[in-house]
Amino acid sequence: MVLVITKCLECPFLRREGNERLCVIATPPMRPILAEENDRPMWCKLRKEQIIVRDFK
Ligand code: SF4
Repeated sequence: MVLVITKCLECPFLRREGNERLCVIATPPMRPILAEENDRPMWCKLRKEQIIVRDFK
């Protein structure tokens, strides 16, 4: 199943730093992405990009 995200507010990759909203996908220093985020989108409609998250366990 391809989970498409259309709003940053619904996206598990959105991080809040004070008043700033940061996209983890677009901001490499904000990584790694936390393991408990199981329902990960595979396509960001806003960025028009596929999101591939690799788990190196
Ligand atoms: S991946 Fe897309 S929807 Fe999610 S925070 Fe980044 S820009 Fe917003």
